[in-house]
This record gives sequence, structure tokens and C-alpha cells, in this order.
Amino acid sequence: MIRVSLTLLIFIYLALFLTAVFALWIWFEWNRQRRERHAVRHRVRCSLCAFEFEDPSEEPLPRCPRCGSLNEREHFRIL
Ligand SMILES: [Zn+2]
Repeated sequence: MIRVSLTLLIFIYLALFLTAVFALWIWFEWNRQRRERHAVRHRVRCSLCAFEFEDPSEEPLPRCPRCGSLNEREHFRIL
């Protein structure tokens, strides 16, 4: 039988628990960022009137539905 002191047992338990919490945190954060990127994938902000609209087409210069100007697709970020 392996003899382990109580201090070492508590340390092992805490280390495993904290590792599991950290892994779950990283996994949930990674999933959250993936969902966020997926949600704003087709979102375009008009450079002229700042109107935000969804454009699911793949054309490089989508037209703003409010003012009609052509906009470049840029990486959309949520703060
Ligand atoms: Zn516009």
C-alpha cells in the first residue's frame, strides 16, 4: 500500500481541482469566442453612416441598406 501524508493528499486534491477548473475555464472561453466570431461573421459597419447590417453574401463590397454607400469588409469586433 502506498503511504501518503495528509498534507500531500490535500495538495494533490487541490492541484487536480484547480487544473480541472482552469481547463474548464479555457474551454468555455474558447467556445464563447468561437460563438461570438460566428455571430458577427457577416456583420458589416457602414463607414459613412455607422449603420450595422448583416450581409450573408460573399461580395467584397456590400452596399449599405440605409445610405447606399459601398463598404469594405473588415474584421468586426465586439468589445
Ligand atoms: Zn451607410
